[in-house]
Amino acid sequence: MSEPRKLLQGSTGDWEVVVGLEVHAQVTSKSKLFSGASAEYGAGPNENVSLVDAAMPGMLPVINKYCVEQAIRTGLGLNAKINLWSRFDRKNYFYPDLPQGYQISQYKDPIVGEGEIEVELDSGETIKVGIERLHLEQDAGKSIHDLAPKESYVDLNRSGVALMEIVSKPDMRSAEEGSAYFSKLRSIVRYLGTCDGNMEEGSMRADVNVSVCRAGNYDKFRETGDFKFLGTRTETKNVNSIRYVKQVIDYEARRQVEVLESGGTIDQETRLFDVKSGTTRTMRSKEDAHDYRYFPDPDLLPLELDAAWVEEIRAGLPELPDQKKHRFMSEYGLSAYDALVLAADKANAAYFEEVAKGRDGKLAANWVTVELFGALNKEGKTIAESPVSAARLGGLIDLIKDGVISGKIAKDVFALMFTGEETGDPADIVEKRGLKQVTDTGAIEKVVDEIIAANPKQVEQVKEKPKTMGWFVGQVMQKTGGKANPQAVNDILKKKLGVE
Ligand code: ADP
Ligand code: MG
Repeated sequence: MSEPRKLLQGSTGDWEVVVGLEVHAQVTSKSKLFSGASAEYGAGPNENVSLVDAAMPGMLPVINKYCVEQAIRTGLGLNAKINLWSRFDRKNYFYPDLPQGYQISQYKDPIVGEGEIEVELDSGETIKVGIERLHLEQDAGKSIHDLAPKESYVDLNRSGVALMEIVSKPDMRSAEEGSAYFSKLRSIVRYLGTCDGNMEEGSMRADVNVSVCRAGNYDKFRETGDFKFLGTRTETKNVNSIRYVKQVIDYEARRQVEVLESGGTIDQETRLFDVKSGTTRTMRSKEDAHDYRYFPDPDLLPLELDAAWVEEIRAGLPELPDQKKHRFMSEYGLSAYDALVLAADKANAAYFEEVAKGRDGKLAANWVTVELFGALNKEGKTIAESPVSAARLGGLIDLIKDGVISGKIAKDVFALMFTGEETGDPADIVEKRGLKQVTDTGAIEKVVDEIIAANPKQVEQVKEKPKTMGWFVGQVMQKTGGKANPQAVNDILKKKLGVE
């Protein structure tokens, strides 16, 4: 098989790393999955709790159609099969913040089946990652242990909030692939608007499954589909940033290789990631599915979808990052890299398109990705907070295109606009500050003549070494405050110095 293979070197030979992610993505919905209580983040403790969320005796869950629609949209965005018949099961376990004593989830019959997405790596390479399933389930509440020294509190605001659990196949083979997949998934759900992807607020978090096996065994697994060829996996829970996913995989793979090479075995267990040390530690040994005593929830009917409704949802999908990337490449002639950078985020893509409309796409992409993103990153700002609007950046690019200013002066004008020192139209700023490019050859010739007269040595040198003409260009630019048209300067210098 021609799978990309990244080997990890141990002291007793090479190992392969295998990664699968279970991502919990909170559905962007005003109310919860089975109750009308608000799903909003940031309310006071237990303010958003209905009788259903508190599991009062006799309560009855009622499915939220909007959440079902978002799960379908997400499934379609993952190129996955939508199951027209699915159902909800009870996953039984005890937790202080789970008043029902079970979580309503989907087990054997999830709403979304197999799919596949493309994931771009930093190297420019693209891999395909299989989706195993997507199912809908309720979130649990939250135990709070740090409010009082001897008591723990329970906040049920999250209880019953709709989550989509997106389970990948074990198709990723390195820390980079795992984190790139997580990042791509986030980009897709944000485009769809089905999850806000806000990891700090816990809207999106990953359970990271990692195992290692001897080189060559992964291919055997691929050929046969038999998991016995893979090593035992550990699952690190609730990892909530792209960087942490990478750290977890790196750390776990190394740790497992060390354990195995020193004669130990890997237990199938659930681990926790410690952000401070960048390490993982045992949380509990992993349950198997039979430990949960899954059974169909008798309070809920099976979920039967109308095929026409699914098609209607499909027809209403927005352009997704992959489609946009390919369109940016064909429509604006962008490189795959620039197209990816611009298409990954919806707001960035919209900004770019406004700048590029009716202009040179590559030039626009360059200004947006290099100058604008560079400046925004430095300040930790998002595109929505950009002090320079797309219209103004477009105006600035027009001034370069029309030869009114050079690219170098344009950068100065951009800096003035970005800091807020200048708030007007770029053309007015250039006019007001006298930054217009000097294209008047007479004026440039005069400066050139002065420099030639004052520097006989350099004039001698340039005859032997034509490359030293750059020094003259620099002099002219300095004397004209960077405003001389570079093409004109070059032409005049060549003529006067006799350089070919
Ligand atoms: P569970 O809920 O018990 O963790 P799931 O089937 O929901 O089981 O998820 C298992 C996840 O672990 C999937 O993403 C799968 O790709 C991944 N996985 C399974 N086996 C391995 C393995 N040997 N190495 C790495 N990842 C694995
Ligand atoms: Mg799991």
